[in-house]
Amino acid sequence: MGGKYRFIPELGPDELAAKQLEGLKWTVSHTSRNSPFYAAHFKGNSIEAGDIKTLDDIRKLPFTTANDLKEGYPLPLLSVPEEDVVRIHGSSGTTGKRKILSYTQRDIDTWKNMFARCYELAGLTTLDRVQVCVGYGLWTAGAGFQLGSEHFGAMTLPVGPGMLEIQLQILVDLEATCLCSTASMALLLGEEANKAGLTEKLKLKRCIFGGEAHTPKMRRQFEESLGLESSHDISGMTELYGPGAGIECQAQDGIHYWGDQYIAEIIDPVTLEPVADGEIGELVVTTLSKEASPLVRYRTRDLTRIIPGECACGCSMPRHDMISGRSDDMFIFRAVNIYPGQIGSVLEAFPEASSEYQILLERRQGLDHMTVNVERQPGVSADNDANLAKAICDRIRKFILVRANVEILKPGLLPRSFAKTKRVIDERL
Ligand code: ZN
Repeated sequence: MGGKYRFIPELGPDELAAKQLEGLKWTVSHTSRNSPFYAAHFKGNSIEAGDIKTLDDIRKLPFTTANDLKEGYPLPLLSVPEEDVVRIHGSSGTTGKRKILSYTQRDIDTWKNMFARCYELAGLTTLDRVQVCVGYGLWTAGAGFQLGSEHFGAMTLPVGPGMLEIQLQILVDLEATCLCSTASMALLLGEEANKAGLTEKLKLKRCIFGGEAHTPKMRRQFEESLGLESSHDISGMTELYGPGAGIECQAQDGIHYWGDQYIAEIIDPVTLEPVADGEIGELVVTTLSKEASPLVRYRTRDLTRIIPGECACGCSMPRHDMISGRSDDMFIFRAVNIYPGQIGSVLEAFPEASSEYQILLERRQGLDHMTVNVERQPGVSADNDANLAKAICDRIRKFILVRANVEILKPGLLPRSFAKTKRVIDERL
């Protein structure tokens, strides 16, 4: 072929559209035959696989929501026999609310290929050394970054999150050239490297970061302190394989997404109609080859817009803008997506605590901290506050998988509102 890329296919608009239509037809046929959820979902909306004749016919299909995943817990949207599932990943959430997604071997292969494209578009070569400083385990982050890096052919250094001393040691001794982390971790590592006088010894050229909100200021700061040539925001979500669904290129004008693997629609979150080209709305995704947990018009709640036109970098894959927010109230804490309501459900287990709570998010020394202020129920003695705080803290850790500092306040201390109570005070940015 002799193309520009090893992993990224170069498709003209017509070729891409043909591939999308083929994948859409396959997905609708596959899910209506093999998924009880989708079969019922389509039937309820009088849709048959044969109704999909053009790409525009996607609008005939019903939306799928996070709620559908919740109702199908623990194996929502499952569209293959269980014996074909080789991997499970999940997101944060209380029991029954956690999103659990399953993968066949082909799904894993699709994911690692999409991820390899990300490294390629960020400008890495097989001589690069990739230090992965994100969470491993149930999360998709660590597994995705590692799979992709190995498939791409770079030397992979799977350190995991935290452990600053070890991070610095590996960065220096193994001469890592690419850091994969959250923006706040990159910021923190830059500061620590400076303090330890190691800045000169770093060989880092790039940082691939994602999973939480960041500001251009933060970005400039860690690019400078780590001596980077460039940094690249990576996109993705557990429902859509994980991170690696798209990435910023060298031209840094939006995120190229892998349009041959999923269709991105932008809708008005209220009317549910498509917005005009280039306007901001909610991102809705439909997978084109996902076997185990396919997505059909899945409402991501992420707000973004399609960037029309060709990118200066020469990559023909389509682009969307940075995610500018959520169509609901989710916040991201240390790369974990959290809804205020999840904290509320944790508190429900404690009769000594009132339902009034407030979440305070702060950034100290580059790390995010969460304080959950909870009011004691009127009539309950303050003597037990320390135990109550610890029990709530433990339960948050258990169900939401993050560490929060819990403060018990006397009844009536938190602000009240007749309208929507502001549950989250975000002082991080
Ligand atoms: Zn580009």
